[in-house]
Amino acid sequence: MGFDQQLMERFQLLLPYVLELEGGQVYIQEYPNLKDNSRLNQDQYNEWLNKKQQKNQNNSKYQIRDVSLITKEDIQEYYYDIFLQHKCDKIVDLGTCYQYFDMVINIGPQNAALIMQKACNSSLDGVLNKNTISIVNNMEQNKLQKSIIEARKKQFQKFCDVKVFCKKFERDFNNRINKIQERILKGFQNIDKTKSGSNNQQEVAIKNIQNKEMKSKLIQPKVNQSQKSPMSQKQVIDKLQQNQIEKIQKDMNIQIFNKIKGVNKVTSQFILDKSENIHLSDLATVLSVYNDPNLDDQYKGICFSLDPIVLPNQEEFKQQEKVCWPDKFVNRNIIQDTEFAQILFEADYLLKLMSLGVQDDGKTPFVYPKELSDKGLKSCIAFGKGQFTRLFYRFWLVPESCIYKLEDNKYILNDLKIMCQARQIERVNSQLKDKDAQDINDISYQFAQKISELYDELSKHYPIFKRLQQLFKAVALGKWMYQNKVKVDYQKLQAQIIKVKNQQKLIPILKFEQNGDEVKIPVNFTQAEKIQKAKDYLIEKGHATTQNLIDQVVQQIPDLKGYQIQKQMFYTMGGIDPNCQNMIEQKIMKEKEVEKGNEDEEIEIPFFPCIKCKECQRMVEKQLINLDQNKCSIHNDFTCFLCLELVTNEDKEPRCCVINKFKYIFHKECSEEYETILNKKKDLIDF
Ligand SMILES: [Zn+2]
Ligand SMILES: [Zn+2]
Repeated sequence: MGFDQQLMERFQLLLPYVLELEGGQVYIQEYPNLKDNSRLNQDQYNEWLNKKQQKNQNNSKYQIRDVSLITKEDIQEYYYDIFLQHKCDKIVDLGTCYQYFDMVINIGPQNAALIMQKACNSSLDGVLNKNTISIVNNMEQNKLQKSIIEARKKQFQKFCDVKVFCKKFERDFNNRINKIQERILKGFQNIDKTKSGSNNQQEVAIKNIQNKEMKSKLIQPKVNQSQKSPMSQKQVIDKLQQNQIEKIQKDMNIQIFNKIKGVNKVTSQFILDKSENIHLSDLATVLSVYNDPNLDDQYKGICFSLDPIVLPNQEEFKQQEKVCWPDKFVNRNIIQDTEFAQILFEADYLLKLMSLGVQDDGKTPFVYPKELSDKGLKSCIAFGKGQFTRLFYRFWLVPESCIYKLEDNKYILNDLKIMCQARQIERVNSQLKDKDAQDINDISYQFAQKISELYDELSKHYPIFKRLQQLFKAVALGKWMYQNKVKVDYQKLQAQIIKVKNQQKLIPILKFEQNGDEVKIPVNFTQAEKIQKAKDYLIEKGHATTQNLIDQVVQQIPDLKGYQIQKQMFYTMGGIDPNCQNMIEQKIMKEKEVEKGNEDEEIEIPFFPCIKCKECQRMVEKQLINLDQNKCSIHNDFTCFLCLELVTNEDKEPRCCVINKFKYIFHKECSEEYETILNKKKDLIDF
């Protein structure tokens, strides 16, 4: 499971606990056991929405709404922002994270940070800065959690001393603290997955499904499964049903992952289409070629053809070989066992049958769908009224053009057109060159044109051609991802590739056979054949095989042995080249996008690499991996002390400060903000 999803799971686990005593209308509907003693503050919500709106201009999603009317998802979005903004995601231990998040919501981020700093004896500035987080994560967590409770109690006491009205919240406060302690003590085993870092393919799930799953988890907290007693029959049945559900969810995931239309480079997420589009497995196949550590760049390209096996002294071809590139270049199995290669083969095979006009026995006519034959689809030979002058023609299916859109690091493939090319081998300056035939009188050109013209309609009758288009898009997207350095994990890619086992590499050749009287050729016996035939005759009759007798018999044998029926053969060759040479950028029309107002759904890239920080074993944040960092935001020397984002060359006037004898880097804005906080803090602390 990816980083984002683990984080989201953790957040979704903690949110209801934190809000339990905060309340809020929607949560009361969702979690009927919760008390309604407070709700989301309209002013705070408005302020948050305003900020969102400024950030995402042209987005109608963020319009001011009554907090009592917003959905559970809206509430989650609001709190998830708080969760991230105040760096709850950086705290490794679930219990500690829970305590901190609870304080952020209950007493505000500044007080929360102060308590954390008190509890871990770091210097007090009222922000959960890089230094504090590092200390927090390195401490013995039980001890730290106790200290947090102590500090929190002390702080509450201080509040009561200063402002007497606080006293009336004492019971609620104690109640809250008790719940937290109890939950940490009993609660979280087996629920949290953040630390395991498991990459199980089955766990790759789309947000929606996971949200649903989480919801059921939240309503019925998981029981402690560490008990060792044997499973009852009911438990076994429940478990089986659970597996069933997981299987269904996996199938659903597969469908969802077959709707990829692009990639968001910044968030490292796939952009989904509304309906079927690029398949994850196809894209993984393409990326596995481009990211193959043992493959030279010059070989990084996918291609397929069915090539006749040429044997010496053979009058006609008998077999053909499925040839995949780059496999052939390096004599290694790279794509040949994949579903991807299977689709290339099937599409190529079908095109060959259609070009020959016969089925695989070489005789039975290929029946074209009526709609298409009405539009002029027929075999290549039929274009020439049954005559053909060459032994074989070569047809290739290739992308004609592909339209893409690139906006804010979002790369989206729109339309991809496929064409059929008739190619001829020509000798150019003593070199053989594969040339696209352009002679409009050539039957191969005419056939190829017809296929290009009818391709979309062909796809409706033969779904394999639709799949081929998806494959071509997968190649275009994979190539862009590779060239634009979207990070992928080579091992994880392998797990996503659908394999087709036990495929035959050699298959009978496809051909068109023509035989008839006009090609009957008389064949005579040779003298040697006549002598042999005479000998056989004499032996059979029990006579001696003397020269005299042989001569007599030979004279009686007629010259004509029989007729040889000359078969005329016609083959088609060629293949499929999915590499698009004609990428066309689509101009973006801003206004139209606004009108639409619906955002594209995005999902995490399941083969995004997970890198563990060498210092702390925490997962390195995605945005840092994208910038080729291998230490997490807490241990990276180049992340900002305040916001923990990387300070890059693009950030103007970064500042350096020595804090507690260590040198830290700040974004310009962050350093200003930090100064403001330091100047304000004085009236807050001291408890
Ligand atoms: Zn680290
Ligand atoms: Zn910063």
